[in-house]
Amino acid sequence: MIKEIQAKKVLTFHPDAFPTHWDLNPYRGCTIGCKYCFAQYSHKYLGLDDFFKDILVKTNVSERLEKELSQKKWSCAQIKIGGTTDLYQHLEKKYELLPKIYAVIKRHKNPVFIQTKSTLILRDFEILKELSEITSVDIATSITTFDESIRKIIEPGASPTIERLEMLAIFKGISRSTTLGFMPIIPLISDTDENLETVFRLAKAYGIDNVVTSILFLRGDVKTKFLSLIKLHFPDLYSDFAKLYATSTADAAYAQQISVKIKKLREKYQVFGVYKPVETNVRTVQLSLF
Ligand code: SF4
Repeated sequence: MIKEIQAKKVLTFHPDAFPTHWDLNPYRGCTIGCKYCFAQYSHKYLGLDDFFKDILVKTNVSERLEKELSQKKWSCAQIKIGGTTDLYQHLEKKYELLPKIYAVIKRHKNPVFIQTKSTLILRDFEILKELSEITSVDIATSITTFDESIRKIIEPGASPTIERLEMLAIFKGISRSTTLGFMPIIPLISDTDENLETVFRLAKAYGIDNVVTSILFLRGDVKTKFLSLIKLHFPDLYSDFAKLYATSTADAAYAQQISVKIKKLREKYQVFGVYKPVETNVRTVQLSLF
């Protein structure tokens, strides 16, 4: 189900979020369909069942954003676009909400952090180039595996992994920073030495500024569904995988082992994970802003 809605408010404050506290999501739900997506739970608060198929489209997002950024109290804080759902999911081809959002951002010279798993962002390259000439534009993507047969099972609607990296490299020339999330690292599936090495080798070759990593986190319904997926597509791994996930996080010894490997790769390729958010110096952001 695709439903067009008129949003009452489009900027959301998350006190503990990193790298920015402010989120803008033009869509609710996400057709990219990553099987590990932990935002799936958020749909139940909207009374919707299927995060990957029941999509809300905020057709008035740019008008609302204009109003919220025009508030005297707005701090000009860095905004993350697409923190809960991917801003360049397939529906963006039809709705073209992003160019209108960028026009508002440009008028207000507001810094942005944009994260997507879709190369559809390249459609807006020229607009983002212009935007980056007047404010900070940070671009990020995340990847899991270079094995496309596995990628199609785990992240069916995302662009191929190598294309996401190439996209990030294209933005390197214009954005303040480029960040690659190697996340989630999926135990027994995307944690081969070859995959780990390829991530860091290519990040270095493409000149990516930051590589951040995290191991798969599974809780609630997502854990149940992900375990079913492992059973179906990787039956030989199921038993060991389930043992690693007695809780929502991977076994501590396993996590330590991965951490050692990543440390070595960081040293070998001199690729680190230090992302510095844009600092807001106008005033302290207050939760009660709107
Ligand atoms: S792209 Fe992001 S929001 Fe969309 S399904 Fe994947 S993890 Fe979830």
